[in-house]
Amino acid sequence: MTTERLRVAVLGAGPGGYPAAFLAAERGFDVTLIDPRANPGGVCLYIGCIPSKALLHAAGVIREAEHASAFGIEFGAPTIDLDGLRGWKDGVVEKLTGGLGTLARARKVRMVHGLGRFVDAHTIRVERDGELAEVTFDFAIVATGSSPAMPAALRLDSDRVWDSTAALELREVPGTLLIVGGGYIGLEMATLYAALGSKVTVVEATGTLLAGADADLVRVLAKSLEGRLEAVLLETSVTALREHAGGGVEVDLAGVEEQTTRTFDRVLVAVGRRPNSADLGLEHTSVTTNERGFIRVDHQRRTDEPSIFAIGDVAGEPMLAHKATHEARVAVEVIAGEPAAWEPAAIPAVVYTDPEIAWCGLTEQEARARGIEVEVTRFPWTASGRALTLGRTDGSTKILVEPGTERVLGVGIVGPGAGELIAEGVLAVEMGARLDDLRMSIHPHPSLTETIMEAAEVFFNTSPHYIARRR
Ligand code: NAD
Repeated sequence: MTTERLRVAVLGAGPGGYPAAFLAAERGFDVTLIDPRANPGGVCLYIGCIPSKALLHAAGVIREAEHASAFGIEFGAPTIDLDGLRGWKDGVVEKLTGGLGTLARARKVRMVHGLGRFVDAHTIRVERDGELAEVTFDFAIVATGSSPAMPAALRLDSDRVWDSTAALELREVPGTLLIVGGGYIGLEMATLYAALGSKVTVVEATGTLLAGADADLVRVLAKSLEGRLEAVLLETSVTALREHAGGGVEVDLAGVEEQTTRTFDRVLVAVGRRPNSADLGLEHTSVTTNERGFIRVDHQRRTDEPSIFAIGDVAGEPMLAHKATHEARVAVEVIAGEPAAWEPAAIPAVVYTDPEIAWCGLTEQEARARGIEVEVTRFPWTASGRALTLGRTDGSTKILVEPGTERVLGVGIVGPGAGELIAEGVLAVEMGARLDDLRMSIHPHPSLTETIMEAAEVFFNTSPHYIARRR
């Protein structure tokens, strides 16, 4: 069989699935993309990354206007037209997903709408409104993503208890909002709803927010949130939820020292996500999952079934859109017979709070856990001219370096725009750059990108703007 005739079925049209389908189509494969939604986009574009970032941009505008009083400009309290804000957010989603629909048609990707399940290792049955369609394939790529986890103790059939999808619908701005979980979603939604005017309390079961991020970066965010949130309760779990007769939700909280019951208008549960692997008919194939439900894949994203690949959230952590997109490329190239493999040196993580936190490559906590010796060089944004002109010196940039070679192993940034700045760190880690490469590359002045160059300079004690105490 020639490769041009290969039939590739892609199950799930999120940021893993639609790039896989588009890349496969560009290679001349006969591609079917299966998803219940009208256009490609998946959770990320419809009810995740994109709507949340649109709303977080609005939250940022509100905060900037508040900050402006520090440099003599008073805007007064904002008037928030919730319908207008929701409409704008929905418009962003429609434009993006509609555009992808057009691109799918232009690439002659056949879209089949509905929920697909494997019948055997070469057939997917798709169901929609009781109607069945069968898609047969030479190769399938499973990209079905993940769903919010809802532990039994937090399950309450009430529209007063939200998951992230409900929070992004922006139905209302509750007077008081309890957010269960101090991870990515919890803190991004805390940033949003606090800016819109809710009194937000965050409870986190462990002793730290954003468990995957380095503590020094998280401290900067935590300090900034102190002024904006009602409370952040660490080492505290929610043990039960009940609708309160007078409105709101009654919540049993178990902390290290005491148990309390409090009432909040709304509760958002953001305690992690689970891979969507349970209802795919995988038992009719040789595909296997691990104890957490992630599909087992090798370095080429092959499952235990030779004709089936898996990518994105359903194939393992980190559950990040850009990781899924990159895996899509690997899977399609392997199907095309190329020697591709999944071996990134740096997957960036960005938390779109205010300030943002971003990191890539090795973190300090990971280095400690794995016994890897590193040197760390830092540049505080108090010494950055650009940060001063923005009125935002609450940032910090650090670089983890391999002792002896001065190779860049990881970069961590906290501060506004950290999510954009981290891209230079990704390139440095992937290219095996040394600190010299960063400090010898001319960075634009004045810009926050200079904090990366200056962090490298600090290592050699050649930063014009900062004298390190060590070295
Ligand atoms: P998360 O894993 O980031 O955080 C969940 C937090 O909830 C953890 O800190 C955990 O300790 C805590 N927790 C668990 N059970 C609890 C309980 N009963 N009471 C109190 N706290 C509890 O998960 P998330 O925030 O739900 O996000 C899910 C995934 O979505 C993330 O892993 C991330 O990959 C992805 N995501 C990424 C972005 C981004 O890239 N900016 C944004 C949102 C979501």
